[in-house]
Amino acid sequence: MNITVEIGDFRQSETDAVLIPVLEDDFHNELILAADAALEGRIQAFLNLGDFKGKPKTTSVLYTNGAITAPRIILVGLGVYAELNAEKVRQVAGHTARQARDMGLKSITVPIPPETQDDWAQAAVEASLLSLYEFKQHKTQKDDNEDEDKTLESMTLLVGSEVEKSSLERIVERGQTIAKGTILARDLSNQPGNHLTPTQLAEKAEEVAETVRLNCTVFDKPTLEEKGFRTLLAVAQGSAEDPRFIILEYTPEGEGHDTVALVGKGITFDTGGISLKSGGGMHEMKHDMSGAAAVLGAMQVIGHLKPNVRVVGVIATTENMPGSTAIKPGDVVTSYGGKTIEILNTDAEGRLILADALGWTAQYEPQGVIDLATLTGAVITCLGHVAAGAMGTDDALMEKIKKAAEKTHERVWELPLWDDYDEGVKSKVADVQNIGDGTAGTLAGGAFLKKFAEGYPWVHLDIAGTAWGMKGSTYIPETASGYGVRLLVQLVEDW
Ligand SMILES: [Zn+2]
Repeated sequence: MNITVEIGDFRQSETDAVLIPVLEDDFHNELILAADAALEGRIQAFLNLGDFKGKPKTTSVLYTNGAITAPRIILVGLGVYAELNAEKVRQVAGHTARQARDMGLKSITVPIPPETQDDWAQAAVEASLLSLYEFKQHKTQKDDNEDEDKTLESMTLLVGSEVEKSSLERIVERGQTIAKGTILARDLSNQPGNHLTPTQLAEKAEEVAETVRLNCTVFDKPTLEEKGFRTLLAVAQGSAEDPRFIILEYTPEGEGHDTVALVGKGITFDTGGISLKSGGGMHEMKHDMSGAAAVLGAMQVIGHLKPNVRVVGVIATTENMPGSTAIKPGDVVTSYGGKTIEILNTDAEGRLILADALGWTAQYEPQGVIDLATLTGAVITCLGHVAAGAMGTDDALMEKIKKAAEKTHERVWELPLWDDYDEGVKSKVADVQNIGDGTAGTLAGGAFLKKFAEGYPWVHLDIAGTAWGMKGSTYIPETASGYGVRLLVQLVEDW
């Protein structure tokens, strides 16, 4: 959908519908009064009937019969003013954009009241675009109930002055950029394993880097061998597909900037390896690279928005397959940093590849490292599909992430990473083992990673619950959510 900002009067709008926002506790704002006057009192008469109360995520269509240029006015409920916030705006915008599309409208106009807050406007832009997302790349035929023409093509935002126009245009540009990054992450995560191998993910990263002018380095298998990425290679050794290690770097102009590293788990398909997963639902393991997708999506946005902090994106990517060459339970491998790991379950492979990635990241001397990984099913038991489990070694970094999560509604909930949990990952034969004692599985993952995230402030986000399977949002589908892109962008922008 194309979004433009224009100066003008909604009465002359030539689009399919004009959207008029209505607060539950104020039926008399300027815009409603103007629309009501244009329709000779029909709006107030309609509101007085009580059929439409202005509740959030409700709309009502009035036909204008030539009273204004557009054939329809759609009243859009916003709820009570005191309860309005960015997330409410996102939910309303997502609901309304989907509804306009489902009605078969091609173009809509939204008059923007001058008192609209910038973050609400950005929220509305992002959610409108994200709500219309579909993944249909592999469909060659339309579904039975699908109408070919249902595409909402354009949204015109109307303002009153040149100053408002240029300010809103900047906000729209930001919102579009962030939505595009989130959609990139969704597309990558939704891509089946045979259409997104580690090699293809690395090619995509190179393409993104080229477009937004980031530095990009990709290590192939011989380079990984030479540099000692032994745990990444160990996980990859059961697969016919070679692993890759991807580094994307954004450096702002000038000197003395902090460095933030974003580290993503990129298992393009996870069978569990020799500790094979059960068949039901295994196809969802194509999403096991959602951490990598979030990092790549965020780096694309960062390349566009150019925040005032150096950002390094690090992605370790491989398949996890069973086979005669695969790692076996009981095997001991040595990480990039030299620690030995006893592999007791080959399905706990994400933390193995992250061990190398976190070890590698220390050389950038970062002021903050955030890793994102679809790490444990246990985090879904704990937090459902609502929030990522956050754990780390630095309170200040954790606070920054919580603030960014609050603003973007990409929720996180802090879990305790006390030393007490270290006991669970102690191995009898190596420095550490890759699973705990069967309790607090999410924290065993965190306790394991902590051994490798040394020398910098670090937070681990377990996104196994939020990467896909979210329900009840108007702008996030139940398939890949693109979770993490908006959060990471907000974090580095506010750094
Ligand atoms: Zn696994």
